[in-house]
Amino acid sequence: MSDCIFCKIINGDIPCSMVYQDETVLAFKDINPLAPVHVLVVSKQHIESAQALNESNSQIAAHIFSKIPGIAKELGIAESGYRVITNIGKDGGQAVPHLHFHILGGRKLENTLG
Ligand code: 5GP
Ligand code: ZN
Repeated sequence: MSDCIFCKIINGDIPCSMVYQDETVLAFKDINPLAPVHVLVVSKQHIESAQALNESNSQIAAHIFSKIPGIAKELGIAESGYRVITNIGKDGGQAVPHLHFHILGGRKLENTLG
């Protein structure tokens, strides 16, 4: 997707502060952090959102979730805890239409969701 900001980051056209990558995922610091630790874990394949997951691509989501604990450990928040969020569509507040999971931590997060 040529006009997708996360595809541009994955392709190296836009710089990022990388935390982790392998052939399937890229994790990097959010440009506008909402907590002391705010990292985005992004699929390297362009998938519009979690609403576009299905039988043929859900192994990508499974892979992302298999890597999140190690990323959280590296970030120093595995013991203190953290939140993983994926926004979907307009009402979900999704600004970038490319599958990504927010990892938020480093402080006690708000109790409210939604
Ligand atoms: P969404 O609202 O789609 O769930 O989250 C998109 C996130 O991407 C936002 O938290 C926003 O700060 C972050 N973001 C948008 N553009 C860039 C960018 O160019 N670089 C980085 N590192 N983060 C970005
Ligand atoms: Zn994309």
